[in-house]
Amino acid sequence: MKETTRLINLDSSHNEVSGKPLVTINPPLYHASTVLFERCEDLYLANTGSYEGATYGTDRLPLQTALEEAITGLEGGELTRAFQSGLAAITHTFFAYADSGDHILVCDNVYGPGAHFCRKVLPRFNIEVEFVPSAIGADIADYLRPNTRMIFLESPGSNTFEIQDIPAITRVARERGIITVIDNTWATPLYLKPLALGVDIAIHSVTKYISGHSDLLMGTITANQQYAGVLADYYRCLEIYASADDCYRALRGIKTLGVRLCRHETSALEMARRLESIDLVESVIHPALPSHPQHEIWKRDFTGSTGLFAFTFKSDYSDETIAAFVNALGLFGIGYSWGGFKSLITVGRFKRRNPSLYAGKNMVRLNIGLEDTQDLMDDLEQAFTYLK
Ligand SMILES: *Cc1c(COP(=O)(O)O)cnc(C)c1O
Repeated sequence: MKETTRLINLDSSHNEVSGKPLVTINPPLYHASTVLFERCEDLYLANTGSYEGATYGTDRLPLQTALEEAITGLEGGELTRAFQSGLAAITHTFFAYADSGDHILVCDNVYGPGAHFCRKVLPRFNIEVEFVPSAIGADIADYLRPNTRMIFLESPGSNTFEIQDIPAITRVARERGIITVIDNTWATPLYLKPLALGVDIAIHSVTKYISGHSDLLMGTITANQQYAGVLADYYRCLEIYASADDCYRALRGIKTLGVRLCRHETSALEMARRLESIDLVESVIHPALPSHPQHEIWKRDFTGSTGLFAFTFKSDYSDETIAAFVNALGLFGIGYSWGGFKSLITVGRFKRRNPSLYAGKNMVRLNIGLEDTQDLMDDLEQAFTYLK
């Protein structure tokens, strides 16, 4: 069965109401702190950790487990755990798998708040973080030390879109027993299978395409067989869990992920190609365009592209001029995050610790939503007239 079919048929529900069958396409939503036991003997089992069922609201209620299992299936992993945000999934990955005295390599293009956490928090736990060039591959070997525990990737990075050579990196890492982690939010598990390329752990900001409607925050960590036990034990210690309502919404979103991504992909590619032919534009940074510096690697490893990309201008406009352009847009919302049905724009200059094509440049990032592309193009073109 194809993945998209499997997603549609995730969780129909067979229940009974007043002794009569009740079958619904969508699952029931449970809200619970206390979970009742039928008999005192069940409580005794729960007290010793040997009760089979859920014992409390923190035991990952049915919708959370359904979502986790859906993502485990798509990633081809062993175990998934859901967190309250994508950033929480990132930070807990470090805490679950790194120890005091470890050295960690992090790609320069990772999600900004995750990089901030690495710089501000991990050194307090005596974990040393080193940022490596965003388009790294087998040359990751040059950065390894005897105490290197983890390599953290994001491909493509969600602001500057560099692609890493994942198989080359995992080959080096596996030889040395180093854990590899990837933030797979951009491609989603439909368009990149990092675990099949040798990555040990895949992270998602479910907030983006998987939920798809800009109305919740959630993140997941998926581990392969080797690293699943550590994740399960760590999660059990914390009793952090995603809310039932958010899991319901995320499950509703994931069922239409395939069809939404298809539309995001074609619309964004069309917009990217049209922007490439506009005179004011210097470069359009989209992994599926042949002009992208790592396009060949993207073609080899990914099965599709999504709706987020960036471009730069030939002129170094002032921030005021860029603001006049952005403010003139009618259809693009000015706002963070992406992966939803509405088109969005952000602009910014990115700091990088390693040499980068885009460091310090004014970059415009577009989240292409589900609107008609001619309407979106018309909107951009009228706003370009404000760039003087
Ligand atoms: C948004 C984002 C995150 C963080 O997700 P939140 O749910 O907003 O905390 C992590 N990684 C990438 C690539 C993102 O774009």
